[in-house]
Amino acid sequence: MEISAFLREKFPRLAVEDNFSFAAHTTIGCGGRAAAAAYPADEEETAALLALLAREKIPHVVLGLGANVLPADGPFEGVVVRLSRLSRLAEGDGLLFAGAGATGAALVAFACGRGIGGFEPFTGIPMSVGGGTAMNAGVRERHFSDAVLCVRAVANGKVRLFSARACRFAEKESIFLQGIAVTGVLMRAEPADPARIRRTLAEFSARRAALPKGRSMGCTFVNPPGRPAGALIEACGLKGYRIGGACVSEEHANFIINEGGTAEDVGRLADFVKEEVARKTGVVLREEIRRIGS
Ligand SMILES: Cc1cc2nc3c(=O)[nH]c(=O)nc-3n(C[C@H](O)[C@H](O)[C@H](O)COP(=O)(O)OP(=O)(O)OC[C@H]3O[C@@H](n4cnc5c(N)ncnc54)[C@H](O)[C@@H]3O)c2cc1C
Repeated sequence: MEISAFLREKFPRLAVEDNFSFAAHTTIGCGGRAAAAAYPADEEETAALLALLAREKIPHVVLGLGANVLPADGPFEGVVVRLSRLSRLAEGDGLLFAGAGATGAALVAFACGRGIGGFEPFTGIPMSVGGGTAMNAGVRERHFSDAVLCVRAVANGKVRLFSARACRFAEKESIFLQGIAVTGVLMRAEPADPARIRRTLAEFSARRAALPKGRSMGCTFVNPPGRPAGALIEACGLKGYRIGGACVSEEHANFIINEGGTAEDVGRLADFVKEEVARKTGVVLREEIRRIGS
């Protein structure tokens, strides 16, 4: 039986999409198709779905806004789980709750619109709240780990509450990258002067305008201690280096831009950059991007 038919039989009310296109749902704009995508309606359905997929050993991946992933070109014989329907935002008693499927843009607009400070640095980061939490998204001044109090997530088919400490946040890392699906996040909601929020928001937005345009996954590599990855890549003379339709951005060497290439082009270019930087500088870069499929 086809995976999507199997899902529909087990969960008659679950929203299921056949033949899901990774290229159409990722910022890098390449990759093949998945047998199915599922959009659970709530946390309970998410837990039941993930428990079933694990029990039946059906490959699956949770995909947020697809802003930091590189899906393989070949077919993915499994299920893409999307939590976009878990998008509730609520606030009260010094706390802000954000569902995993809320977008970063909605989160920032919600917080800033209510005079809650500290969310301005996240403006313009393409993400879902779930993906931002899993990747500990942020900028130099502030990361998700600075705002998160606790996280609701599905682990081994059950909803659990993770304290900030249990999340094991680090640079572009958290426990949620190990097969634990974030469903919602509780954050600090501290009031701030609305004029100051507007000013800070404008400053962070202006900064983002300088980032390279075009299809990318943002930064490809995590900054190693000492020197930014972009500076190392540039020092190796790799700006503008191209494999097929993928090239190292001329504006910011840590960005790989996809100009109509394949996932193989992008992946091979990332491998080549890593090898060259290691050969010429001795620094082994760690990929920030998450590869999906083989
Ligand atoms: C132009 C551009 C600029 C960027 N700028 C920044 C920046 O300034 N700072 C920064 O930190 N990042 C930046 N990024 C990278 C990206 O925005 C972040 O990594 C973001 O957190 C990705 O969120 P997402 O929802 O798109 O996650 P996805 O790309 O969909 O997924 C990323 C990883 O998180 C996992 N994941 C997604 N949702 C969940 C969930 N609910 N539970 C558990 N795991 C989950 C996925 O399985 C995958 O492993 C940029 C990207 C682009 C394209």
